[in-house]
Amino acid sequence: MKKTIRDINLSGKRCLVRCDFNVPMDAEGHITDDTRIRASLPTIQFLLSNGASVILTSHLGRPEGGFDAKYSLQAVALHLEKILGCAVWFQSVPEVIDDSVREKAAELKPGEVMLLENTRFVAGETKNDPRLAKDLASLADVFVADAFGSAHRAHSSTQGVSDYLPTVSGFLMEREIRFLGDALENPTRPLLAILGGAKVSDKILVIRQLLAKVNTLLIGGGMAYTFLKSKGYEIGSSLLDESGIELASALLKEAEEKGVQILLPTDVNAGLSFSNETDADIFPADAIPADRMGLDIGPKTIECFVAEIEKAGTIFWNGPMGVFEMPKFATGTKAVAEAMAKTPAITIVGGGDSAAAVTQFGLASEMTHVSTGGGATLEFIEGKALPGVICILDH
Ligand code: AMP
Repeated sequence: MKKTIRDINLSGKRCLVRCDFNVPMDAEGHITDDTRIRASLPTIQFLLSNGASVILTSHLGRPEGGFDAKYSLQAVALHLEKILGCAVWFQSVPEVIDDSVREKAAELKPGEVMLLENTRFVAGETKNDPRLAKDLASLADVFVADAFGSAHRAHSSTQGVSDYLPTVSGFLMEREIRFLGDALENPTRPLLAILGGAKVSDKILVIRQLLAKVNTLLIGGGMAYTFLKSKGYEIGSSLLDESGIELASALLKEAEEKGVQILLPTDVNAGLSFSNETDADIFPADAIPADRMGLDIGPKTIECFVAEIEKAGTIFWNGPMGVFEMPKFATGTKAVAEAMAKTPAITIVGGGDSAAAVTQFGLASEMTHVSTGGGATLEFIEGKALPGVICILDH
């Protein structure tokens, strides 16, 4: 069990909090989705109401070669002031920490908040340079790790700083560890995993890990066609990961040996081209015409997948069932999201596109947990030790 901000005395402490404020912005620099900022509020509010002062830090985008106003956290500071309802001190310091920042941090009073500039403006950040880590640590008494989405990277602000400060998790990090870790290790059974997305080879380690844990695995999305092909089915011009065919076949065999049920689509909604305007029709999954590509799961498959969702005690979902970005091929993904929203089971949505899909359908709040990570979520499920998680103190 990792220590959290509940486990330490916060009174009078200056807490350096690594958040994930890597929010999408439009060309004018307006934040287009503030979910990640809002997600950090419970941690910040808890620290403030327990007598701590808060120094927030985050990266934004991938600035190359130092300061770039396009990637400044200025807009995040202004937005935070609005939704937090208190002043957030911010100065756009290209080197992130200078004397003005040090001075402000030193005189910060309990209940006060400041935000540092984008950590990636300093070249040392992504190299986990100990000088930056030490500099960040010198501002505070405690490090609060709350950026799960960056925890798979050993950077100065995600891991390096923990070499110099006692490190505990914030509430966001705690939730991710609880639901991606504990809930999948000791699940209420049956444990059902639903996988989709583009390529099998991208998710091979995830599939292997899940095969060791789940009772049933549903496979949809682009990766399903490689599995169908491995069974000798006609998949037309559907997405095929040539290099993954053998792998898919081996995974089906592995599942059989382990007594895990893998369900593939039995029918698909196939179009003539990769477009929302294409003529689309339903075909059996073993007889897709040569000129058609499967872009969504079909109605029989939806019925079967929904029935599995209704039977499950815990459900983990990663990857869309079809090209959900096109309304014509969003039906399968939406049906899975709606069935998950309805079931009383524990429902965990594993980041990336599936998280975007449940948000798009307005169903995120109906899930037990929607992971904030993309790559970090997959690496966590793969069983890899994430540098930004292992650095948190154990009980
Ligand atoms: P991933 O990042 O691997 O989870 O893949 C997500 C992407 O897979 C989304 O952009 C989907 O549009 C795409 N996708 C899902 N189903 C299909 C399909 N049948 N054919 C092509 N792409 C798909």
